[in-house]
Amino acid sequence: MKFWRLAAVSTLALTAALFSQTAPQTQDEDFAKLVREWTTRPEFLSPLVDHLPKVTGVPTPKEVLGYYAGAPKKLTHVADLGKYYRALAASSKRVKVIPAGTTDEGRECIVAVVADEDTIQNLDTYKGYLARLADPRGLGEQEARRIIGSAKPIYMFTGGLHSAETGPPEMLMELAYRIATDESPLYEQIRKNVIVMMTAAAEPDGRDRYVDWYYKYKISEESEQDRAPGPPYWGKYIFHDNNRDINYSQVTMRNWLKFYLEWRPPIMHDLHESQPLLYSFSGQAPQNPTLDPILYAELPWFSNFEMTKMIGYGMPGVWTHAFVDMWSPGYLGFMSSNHNGMLRMYETFGNGGANTMRRTIGGGPGGAPDAAPAEGGPGGRGGRGGGMTAREWYRPLPPSRQLTWSMRNNTNYMETGVLSALELTANFSKTILENFYKKSRNSIHDGETEAPYGYVLPAGQADMTRVAFIVNTLRLQGIEIGRATADVKLREGTFPAGSIVIKRNQPYGRLAKIMLEKQNYPDPALNTYDDTAWTMGLMSHAQVVESADKSILDAPVTAVQTMDVAGEVKGDGPMLAVLENGANTLVTLRYHLKDVKFEAVEQAVPPANAGGVELPAGSLLVESSPRVKAEIQKLGLRAVALMQAPKVPRHPVDLPRLAVFTTWGATQDVGWVRYALDHFDVGYDLIYKERIRKGNLRADYDVILIPSQGGRGGGAKGLVFDIESKGKPYAYTKSPEFPSLGIYGESQDITGGMGLPGVAELDRFVNEGGVLITLGASSYLPAEFGIARTVDAARPSAQFYAPGPIVEAEILKPAHPIFYGYTKTVIPVRWAGGPLLRVPTDDRKSVLMQFPGTDKSVMSGLMRGVAETRNRPAVLDLPIGQGRVLMFATNPCYRWQNLGEFGMLANSILHFNDFPKPTTTPPSASEQ
Ligand SMILES: [Zn+2]
Repeated sequence: MKFWRLAAVSTLALTAALFSQTAPQTQDEDFAKLVREWTTRPEFLSPLVDHLPKVTGVPTPKEVLGYYAGAPKKLTHVADLGKYYRALAASSKRVKVIPAGTTDEGRECIVAVVADEDTIQNLDTYKGYLARLADPRGLGEQEARRIIGSAKPIYMFTGGLHSAETGPPEMLMELAYRIATDESPLYEQIRKNVIVMMTAAAEPDGRDRYVDWYYKYKISEESEQDRAPGPPYWGKYIFHDNNRDINYSQVTMRNWLKFYLEWRPPIMHDLHESQPLLYSFSGQAPQNPTLDPILYAELPWFSNFEMTKMIGYGMPGVWTHAFVDMWSPGYLGFMSSNHNGMLRMYETFGNGGANTMRRTIGGGPGGAPDAAPAEGGPGGRGGRGGGMTAREWYRPLPPSRQLTWSMRNNTNYMETGVLSALELTANFSKTILENFYKKSRNSIHDGETEAPYGYVLPAGQADMTRVAFIVNTLRLQGIEIGRATADVKLREGTFPAGSIVIKRNQPYGRLAKIMLEKQNYPDPALNTYDDTAWTMGLMSHAQVVESADKSILDAPVTAVQTMDVAGEVKGDGPMLAVLENGANTLVTLRYHLKDVKFEAVEQAVPPANAGGVELPAGSLLVESSPRVKAEIQKLGLRAVALMQAPKVPRHPVDLPRLAVFTTWGATQDVGWVRYALDHFDVGYDLIYKERIRKGNLRADYDVILIPSQGGRGGGAKGLVFDIESKGKPYAYTKSPEFPSLGIYGESQDITGGMGLPGVAELDRFVNEGGVLITLGASSYLPAEFGIARTVDAARPSAQFYAPGPIVEAEILKPAHPIFYGYTKTVIPVRWAGGPLLRVPTDDRKSVLMQFPGTDKSVMSGLMRGVAETRNRPAVLDLPIGQGRVLMFATNPCYRWQNLGEFGMLANSILHFNDFPKPTTTPPSASEQ
């Protein structure tokens, strides 16, 4: 106790010294007292946050919400976050609230802006300055200097992207209040030199769902050992992967991107929770070499400054290295570094809620609430950054192994860190702006002086919808794209007028390169935090030509805003043949016209028999009507009118009664599949263990699809047994008190999994004629639990390391319906971390696709130990009983990225009852 008092006194003295230049402001004594109570050790507090000014007429969070940020057992719903920021804006001329769109579930995205009154009044002027620096074409050096002289950097915080990381949205309210009200020199300088922005919650839907769940279950947690499971969902589709949504598929992530491109903050700082006690990202290797060297100087500059300040305050456990690296550009905050700004990121220590708990660092179960697989465990993915309590050059003052941790501790750390970052920004605002300008200028300059100079997506590709996907995704990110008005003659070839041309001499030319190039991973000995490859052309199976020919910069083009692919119907006749060119919208056509009869041709039809157009195998025959034609047009498909059906084998295209199975504990990879199926309007029931255990699945379903889940090296046990039941039920149900629960499914108890009785029902389903499709890690299930008894599913060795590379796969049965629309026998697929499958020689005929597994078959990114994959099945089609099991070792539906592989999944749905007979080996395409 004595020690406590002494420390408190010295902290106050330090506070006084720091802020002695101005007349003392009235302080909120209630706050100071409570914060000291809530902070579990004196060293977990700093002189920046141990007090709060009291200003008549400007409400603290407590005056609006009834509690201060960091109060025990208090978490704030989205509407109340908005209520607070609006109350603050209504009472202070230093604060403004900007709406930034709505979410899947209709919640509001908002950003609060805090700066001095004059800046708030002239925000558009400052927005204009940043826009000019972001695109400095035609801007002379002198003019640039003048703009830098007048401009102010925006420093934008995002908090609550990951819903279990509950602290940041609470802290940010207090931060906004402090910056708006504190009259001491530090704050005056911040207000004057920086425009501070903050999201209320970066994932509003998940925030509300998690807060509901917290109040329902987690508020009674008392220890690390006593943890309740998390809610089954955060956002509508995904959890942590909202920070991996590289193609901005999710509505809320698009809102932030749109906001970013409107305001262009030179710094974006994403606040997470998982690591003790505060990790400040410093941009370590592997680093993407295309990004500007200036960025790599800025990142440690900031993180070291924060560490310096916080160690100076005596706060242990601040560190800057051995966790996240600069390789994947897919994290949300990377929208800043991808656009010549600066990404910043924290991980603070959180308890997964607002309860105070005894914690064990680097040891206890999970280490941190957020130590979900996607976030990496305490050691980070790949086992780096262990030894959290060890002193290292990047962790000069490690934390003790045992500590009691509170939400207020978390708030203190985060807020002290970000205030230090804002202090640095306020002191060096011109350096930040100058660097922002230089990085933008350098990006244009690089595109003019360094190959590749640009990219061509040639016109006339059989399926232009996937070309449009690439174009529109890049357009969303602000990349300028042109359509050639004449033939483009380059060293790499001549490309017809109408081809898409992306020139690198533009502000976001570097981003275009990063997204389109092959990822040459710099050092195979280095592990990385997320994927090593994302090359858009390979992922989409679309032709993208990289050009080392500088003349591409002079190719005449017209600007493309968005690329629409209009479908076409050639000729006249009573019947239409819709070409199977690999467009993913072919499945949409079938679903949009459910009541219409379709047939598929099982072999290619030569032009002579099909109105002058070759019909690839899998093309659909349908009676012509204005409605059918309109759909073909809308979906960007190509069709030819025929007088009669061509004389080749064909089958009716029936729609299956489709179920998608999800566990309650790992809904994220299922979410990506749901997203894709919803996007393409494929109808399905989302089913849980409850339906599986009820049995008689065949009565309701023809196909059960099990998206990748429960894997992560753990085989199929996670899929079967799911969240461990500890005797206490956890209901996920909607109620007036918890309206955000019970959405996307309901359960009286989410624990326990389908169990062995569930497996028996799946086995019965297959034997009774159902088709079971397993993707990625879920393909352990049929092998390990005996549904596909002859298949062996092994795990790779400990030396094997393959974080999402793109590798070659070889199609062995090109005539199988799942390969309709694929014209090559060797195709790029994303390595999905699925099982290494093996079948006995007698069953080799069931192997539809395999991994060649040679060094040259790694097309982009890193695979260490490629030989372990040699000739391993990538897709198996096994006739079992009356039904089938289709096992993908790949994941044809990964994070809205590998749209080139999605066709295999769409085909397996469309042609579910037309797989070749068990005894026959289908002839290969080359024999036709
Ligand atoms: Zn996180």
